[in-house]
Amino acid sequence: MSQPVFSAVALALATVSSVCAGAVGCARHEDVPAPTPRSAPHTASVGGARAVPSASAQVAALPAKTNPSLACLARLYGATVTPDGAGLRVPSSTGTVIPWEDGRQKTEEERLETPDLHDLFLAPYPSHAMPDGNGGPTPTGDPGRIRVYALLDARYGAPGPALEKKLVTVPFVDMRVRVHPLVAPVLAAVENRLKVAVAKDRKLLRFLHDLGGTYNDRVIAGTDRKSAHAYGIAIDLSVPESAYWRNTPRFSNRFPKEIIDAFESEGFIWGGRWAHFDTMHFEYRPEFFDESCTPSSDTDPH
Ligand SMILES: [Zn+2]
Repeated sequence: MSQPVFSAVALALATVSSVCAGAVGCARHEDVPAPTPRSAPHTASVGGARAVPSASAQVAALPAKTNPSLACLARLYGATVTPDGAGLRVPSSTGTVIPWEDGRQKTEEERLETPDLHDLFLAPYPSHAMPDGNGGPTPTGDPGRIRVYALLDARYGAPGPALEKKLVTVPFVDMRVRVHPLVAPVLAAVENRLKVAVAKDRKLLRFLHDLGGTYNDRVIAGTDRKSAHAYGIAIDLSVPESAYWRNTPRFSNRFPKEIIDAFESEGFIWGGRWAHFDTMHFEYRPEFFDESCTPSSDTDPH
């Protein structure tokens, strides 16, 4: 995995303050599927969070100094590594601790509902490699589709009116979109890359029009989990050019490598890399492009 080129921007984001702005852009496409009915216990407010780590989790966890993934996530999301190295504490009135490893055997659906931090990385993210070009084989795994909502809440705020007031309206190609202020500089960096690509090939523009949208405070269909769009950290590109696993029996993709590279180079994951594909969906998830976040065999308990 290459050195992340967005790291300077990501670091700068830590100092960006909240600004209110007008409303443009509204995602209307499902970026992730409606799952089967939930069978796992569910926390009251934020998926993936535990009030305290279990005893087994504390035993299973490695000291923080040997688990750079925790330090990386703490840096990117504004959390702190717990003194015992068992997880992350996020700034909240409840003192929520998210375990690195909760010691539970989980189904795919349970990982979506109540992931620990380690679950984030079970499917490696294959950045900058196209899934065998347009119309290639269906990707395996769903890298990035698991979200630890307590981390997103810590970084961006919980979805709702207070978060919506923070949003900013920014230019995107020849449109304006509404995003979280912490993501606005990163999206601007993507836009700069796209402008360079479009200058070389005007045909790329058709993938950057008829946007599915950015901010939309909604849950994923059939679940009570928030969409990444509810945080203002995701953008759906051209709806007419998109393919979605629920509507299309086989994987297909028309989005060109130039566009995907522009987003991934700045820390956005692409829904076209999911077995449950959603090819117009891009979501800011810098942990998948920072080498120090990726668990090594030394820190991976599985
Ligand atoms: Zn989306």
